[in-house]
Parts: sequence; structure tokens; C-alpha cells
Amino acid sequence: MALEVLDFELPPIGTNAFVVADRERAACVVVDAPLNAFSTVESLLVRNGWTLEGLLLTHGHWDHTLDGHRFAAFGARIFGHEADRILFSEPQVMNAFAMPGIEMHPVAVTDWVKQGDCIELLGRTVEAREVPGHCPGSLLFWFKDAGIAFPGDAVFRGSVGRYDLPGGDFAALEASIRRQIYTLPDETRLYPGHGPPTTVAHERANNPFVRG
Ligand SMILES: [Zn+2]
Repeated sequence: MALEVLDFELPPIGTNAFVVADRERAACVVVDAPLNAFSTVESLLVRNGWTLEGLLLTHGHWDHTLDGHRFAAFGARIFGHEADRILFSEPQVMNAFAMPGIEMHPVAVTDWVKQGDCIELLGRTVEAREVPGHCPGSLLFWFKDAGIAFPGDAVFRGSVGRYDLPGGDFAALEASIRRQIYTLPDETRLYPGHGPPTTVAHERANNPFVRG
């Protein structure tokens, strides 16, 4: 049965959290944890009787991880890249780039993921690809047989992630997009960390920042 992707644009700066659900299996996986992601997911779990198989963090920026500690307290498996370890364990290091007064808690990642790792979730294979440039620990998660991928803030519809934040690097970002994103099958649907979904073919043909 096909996977369903539910998109929630959440505070405080409009960051997408995605719930990838398999209704037949009565289970889901969550991608990223902005503010209120946990209560959003919890009500879905209760209403549908779903189990939560994991939280995939595309990178360690605060707006994607604010609710991470709530998922940890719930006992969820949390996947992330070790290059962002400091951002997960001491999110306040990015205070200067965050909103004043926002409360940040450390996130205990349970599963460190690296290039090419294949994670078994929802009875399927999820391939992780490293896409640094926006953040050193940026990951893309590719649900291969479903033809969907979550690139975090590496690429957006018609745009790319910021590369002027600490650890950012345009040359690295460009290489990540060319080698790890534009090499996915054309019809792969991309669900970025901000804004609407797109496809690999659309970005390769139209993205003004990185031409395919
Ligand atoms: Zn980011």
C-alpha cells in the first residue's frame, strides 16, 4: 500500500514537519520536529492507533529540532548525523540566529546515520544521503520504493538553503545537490524543510541556483 505524506507547517518560522504514514501497517515515521510537532503527531497516533517508528532529523538547526526532546521523552528512535552533534546537544549555540525567548532543549539522538546507510522503517528501506552545505550534518532521507525524499533545507522549490550560517558552504551545497539529489530518479517527489513540494526533474530543469 502506498505511503501517505502529511505536511504540517509549524511555528515559530514556518518549518515543515512531515508524517509518513502506512495505514495498513498502522504506523508512521516523522521527519523533523519544529515547535508543536510532538502534540500534532501524538494526536494522530491516538486518533488512528498508529505506532511511531522513528523521528528523522534532516539537520540540527533549532527550527527543525525544537520538539525533539518531546519525541525523546516519548521513547522514539531519533536519527541524525554526527556532524551536527553539537547542535543537537547544545542547541543554544545557534541562539544568535534564533528568535529571542525561544526555549531550546538538547535532543538525544539514538541512531547516528551516515552516507548510504539503509534504515528499515515501515517495512521498507530508507536510504540516507549526506547533503552538507546548508549545515554540516544535513541529510536527505529517500524512501526508495515510494519515490519520495526529504532533503531538509538543502534544496527548495526554485531555491536552495542558506549557506551563510555557521558551517554553511555554497560549493559543498552545490556538490550535494548535483551528486546526491539530481541523481535521484526524475519523478522522485521532494518534500523540503520549508515551502511546497517539488520533484527532482523540476529542480534539475528550473532551479536557478544549481543547474542540472
Ligand atoms: Zn536549516
